[in-house]
Amino acid sequence: MIAEVAGVLASSKSAIAFTGAGISAESGVPTFRGRDGLWKRYRPEELATPEAFRTNPKLVWEFYKWRIKKILEAKPNPAHYSLVELEKMGILKAVITQNVDDLHREAGTKNLLELHGNIFRVRCTSCNYKEYLKESGRIEEVLQEDIPRCPKCGAYLRPDVVWFGEPLPEEVLSKAFKLAETADVVIVVGTSGVVYPAAYIPYIVKENNGTVIEINVQESGITPIADFFLRGKAGVILPKLVDEVRRIIE
Ligand code: NAD
Ligand code: ZN
Repeated sequence: MIAEVAGVLASSKSAIAFTGAGISAESGVPTFRGRDGLWKRYRPEELATPEAFRTNPKLVWEFYKWRIKKILEAKPNPAHYSLVELEKMGILKAVITQNVDDLHREAGTKNLLELHGNIFRVRCTSCNYKEYLKESGRIEEVLQEDIPRCPKCGAYLRPDVVWFGEPLPEEVLSKAFKLAETADVVIVVGTSGVVYPAAYIPYIVKENNGTVIEINVQESGITPIADFFLRGKAGVILPKLVDEVRRIIE
C-alpha cells in the first residue's frame, strides 16, 4: 500500500499535512488521550481551560511549566523531518498542526500553521503584550516564577495556546480552511480527530474530492473517511513513504 500512497503523493499538486500529538509521541511529548496523558491526578481537559486559570492560575502554570520542560527535552523525530523533506521536494505545500510543541518549526518546516498556538509564546491577560520565549531568551526566567507576570503592565501572563472552550485564532483557521478547500491530498498524522474545529480539515479536503491519507497506530475519528490508512508509528511509516516518493520522482 505504501507504494500506491507514494504514487498519489508524487502526482499531487497541492498536498497538505494535518498533524496531532501522535506525531510528537516518539519525541517523548505526552499525548492528551494516551496512557501517559495525566499530570498528577488531572486530565488535561480539567487544566487547559479558562475556568481553571481563573480559579487556580498557579496550578495551571505548574502544569504548563511541566509541559514546557518536557518539550524542551524533546527533539523532532523522523516523522517531523519527513514532512520537511516532502516540503523541500515541492510536494507538501503546508503543515497544519494542532500541536503547540514547536517541533515542526525546530525540524525546519517553513509553511507552518499552528491552530492551537505555541507553548513557547506567552501573552498578557490584560494588555496586548506577547512574547516568544525562544527569541527573548526568558524561558528559564519564566519557569522560575509561580505565576509569570507581564513585563509591561504587571498582570498575569498566560501561555499563548488555545484552551478547551476557546475560539481558534481566526486568521490561522481561515488560512487552514482555504488550504484544505484547494488541497488534492491531505496526510493526517497522529491525531484522534475529535477536537473541533481543527478536525474539520480532513473533512473539507474530502468534500472537495481530495484524497485522505492517514497514519496512526490506531483508528481515529478520521479513519471513516480515509482513502488510505497506514497503521503504524509515524516515525517509521513517514520515512518509508518519503523514500518511495523520492524513488518515483527522481
Ligand atoms: P490526541 O492525544 O487526542 O491523539 C493522539 C493520536 O496520536 C491518537 O490517535 C493516537 O492513536 C496517535 N498516536 C500515538 N502515538 C503515535 C505514533 N507514534 N504515530 C502515529 N500516531 C500515534 O492528540 P490530538 O488529536 O492532537 O488532540 C489533542 C489536543 O491537545 C490537540 O488539539 C493539541 O492542541 C493538544 N496537545 C498537543 C500536544 C503537543 O503539542 N505535542 C500534546 C498533547 C496535546
Ligand atoms: Zn500586560
